[in-house]
Amino acid sequence: HARRIEGIDKNIWVELTQLAADYKAVNLGQGFPDFSPPSFVQEAFCKALNEGFSMHQYTRAFGHPNLVKILAKFFSRIVGREIDPMEDILVSVGAYQALFCTFQALIDEGDEVIIVEPFFDCYQPMVMMAGGTAIYVPLKPVCCGPVLSSADWVLSPEELASKFSPRTKAIVINTPNNPLGKVYKRKELQMIAELCIKHDVICISDEVYEWLTYDGTKHVKIASLPGMWERTVTIGSAGKTFSATGWKVGWAMGSEHILKHLKTVHQNSVYHCATAAQEAVAVGFQREYDVFGTEESYFHQLPIHLHEKRLRLADCLKSVGLKPILPQGGYFMIGLATIPVSAFYSPEHRNEFQKYIRFCFVKEDSTLQAAEDILRQWS
Ligand code: PMP
Ligand code: GLN
Repeated sequence: HARRIEGIDKNIWVELTQLAADYKAVNLGQGFPDFSPPSFVQEAFCKALNEGFSMHQYTRAFGHPNLVKILAKFFSRIVGREIDPMEDILVSVGAYQALFCTFQALIDEGDEVIIVEPFFDCYQPMVMMAGGTAIYVPLKPVCCGPVLSSADWVLSPEELASKFSPRTKAIVINTPNNPLGKVYKRKELQMIAELCIKHDVICISDEVYEWLTYDGTKHVKIASLPGMWERTVTIGSAGKTFSATGWKVGWAMGSEHILKHLKTVHQNSVYHCATAAQEAVAVGFQREYDVFGTEESYFHQLPIHLHEKRLRLADCLKSVGLKPILPQGGYFMIGLATIPVSAFYSPEHRNEFQKYIRFCFVKEDSTLQAAEDILRQWS
């Protein structure tokens, strides 16, 4: 085997998904909804499949034209600048492949990539496969009030600054964060942005949970801060956006001078992702564009729906004596039980976080009830 895959043969999702299936466990481990996507995207998918031959065949390599056009239109409004559909966007097989193309395209042998802990586990193997070295910097809890919140977990500006070296090529942030649920404040992003600019470093911003924020928390795109569009790759996922993780549609967005290199990796590996799924996601985004900011919007409704589930799970964890950390965003809450949070840390920092456990609350109430019953028996 090639040296680049040494030591990364084990995968937490592969292992736990199999265990959950074998033991028919109530699975709050893996992050996927156990409810259906909204009907407007399901219908769009069915319609696409019945539209004749073209939806069953190849489409444009870097993104189905209907999808890149609406993504550009939608996110131009959010980022506050004109995004070019043909130059500034790459549609990928889920956010996973967008991340893979990013690391392959930008990281060279000997480059360092700063990763904020806790982090989604694939960043490290992807950096390694590109020949880079991961340098870790942890979010740490600063206070312990009566209600624990992901907002209490912060980066030390001095510690972060100390991780930048002449070899630093990129920093990876994830907001809202998996597994903690932290949503970075504008001021925190500003601090990261200043370091990126000072050291001429690229920011890879994984924002797959961008619509899922709670209690009035606002998601801010680091690409929208002054001087950052030119040096940021923003990663998104239709799976998370429309509760359709099996469709595997994602994207990378950023300045043409960076995106063109991601396209080089993509055209020589995957080429493009499923046409009909891209068409359905395009229809979904067009619909959301039209109803944006209204109560009809799925991006408005989904977080309201999940907010309830999050409180329900937090109450359940409290009632069995665990201490949940209330997430400001995302699919997950940490406290104590299914996916060990240590998987989201580097080996050197893992021990400090052994006591935390991650739960996914994007589940039907009946699933949450089943989990609650089990926890109560166990406590
Ligand atoms: N980034 C984060 C933070 C994730 O949690 C996930 C997994 N859902 C991904 C990327 C991958 O997303 P996708 O399913 O679109 O490949
Ligand atoms: N992103 C999801 C999670 O964090 C699932 C990832 C996967 O199944 N590979 O649980």
